[in-house]
Amino acid sequence: MLVGGVNSPVRAFAAVGGTPPVIAKATGAKITDLDGNTYIDYVGSFGPAILGHAPQQVITAICKAARSGTSFGAPTEGETQLAETIAAAFESIEKVRFLSSGTEAVMTAVRLARAATGRDKIIKCVGGYHGHADAMLVSAGSGATTLGVPSSPGIPRPVTADTLLVEYNDPEAAAEAFRSADGQVAAMLVEPVAGNMGVVPPRPGYLTGLRTLCDKHGAILIFDEVMTGFRLALGGAQELFDIDADLTVLGKIIGGGLPVGAIGGPAKLMGKLAPQGPVYQAGTLSGNPVAMAAGLATLEALREEGFYEQLELRSARLQAGLEGALKDAALTDRACVNRVGSMLCCFFAPPPVEHYAAAIKSNKPAFAAYFHEMLDSGVYLPPSQFEAMFVSSAHGDDDIDMTIQAASKSLAAAAKLM
Ligand code: PMP
Repeated sequence: MLVGGVNSPVRAFAAVGGTPPVIAKATGAKITDLDGNTYIDYVGSFGPAILGHAPQQVITAICKAARSGTSFGAPTEGETQLAETIAAAFESIEKVRFLSSGTEAVMTAVRLARAATGRDKIIKCVGGYHGHADAMLVSAGSGATTLGVPSSPGIPRPVTADTLLVEYNDPEAAAEAFRSADGQVAAMLVEPVAGNMGVVPPRPGYLTGLRTLCDKHGAILIFDEVMTGFRLALGGAQELFDIDADLTVLGKIIGGGLPVGAIGGPAKLMGKLAPQGPVYQAGTLSGNPVAMAAGLATLEALREEGFYEQLELRSARLQAGLEGALKDAALTDRACVNRVGSMLCCFFAPPPVEHYAAAIKSNKPAFAAYFHEMLDSGVYLPPSQFEAMFVSSAHGDDDIDMTIQAASKSLAAAAKLM
């Protein structure tokens, strides 16, 4: 009944072969399919599940909110509370607008940047994914990379004509793009840690280089923190790398597993959005009270003392174990683990993997073999070389150790194909 059996292409096993299990339920770090098979889950709903699945305090908050009504089309307290929590976490955010998905949020951020600067061009990175809006679906990582679709049919050429592409982690390429389109660039749009071409950390100085370029050319720096926001730190990649974006795009974690997106920035810039300003944006379910309640309960848990330190320890343990397994399989010259906080991936490509051109050199049949061996061993990885694994606070040391054990076996199978 469903097109391709899924409602989002990255869920299909197109890149690894086979059919995805149909999920019946999930709690903590474990996910269970309709046949009763249970897996240690590193998909984590592709990012939102930082507390693991069905965390008690979030479920309680959702039920409480739902009992008071699921949608009103009128302001609620929850929206303001979640906006305040976000603004308290991000130095660069004074005002927030909630939407229903990351895609919508990026679309709105770009519209706002174009309106504020009176310019049309946007610079984005090759292999960077910013949702499926037409203008952003140019050389977009993740599903598009997995399926080998650099951009999609159905997008009129003029719509992407103002989207300029540069290699991630290459400040010179960004400088050249700004030079060649001088005075026409509205914004540089970037995932501060690339998470849709596998996980690729920014090289030291790369993000500050982009900050300087945007300042020099009067352009707006948009950080797409849909994945990294509240995952790498309360203040996202901006806190971790000590840098402020002009506009921040959020999603995933801030909705506690319910549909959400947000943009945030300085009051002056955000004030250009309707109804305060002329830049139109709207949404029937924007700021949905149940999603706001789930987000608030989630962010409250993240503010607990030592949350990110614990998550870092677990994630580092997993990285070390996977690297040990790569060494045992004599693969360290042909594969590597990239990690920033609780986002990581095992690349079947020679290290270092610092940009898209290196990421796509990965051996996809080897990844597919590894993926299926892991699944057979009870570990559910994202079904693509170009997706991030997410560690949650529900992953205990025993889960991590079982994952490492499974990886030792699975990497041996993958090694035969490399
Ligand atoms: N930006 C980034 C960095 C993402 O990872 C994603 C989703 N994976 C999006 C935007 C789009 O978000 P959504 O799927 O909620 O539309």
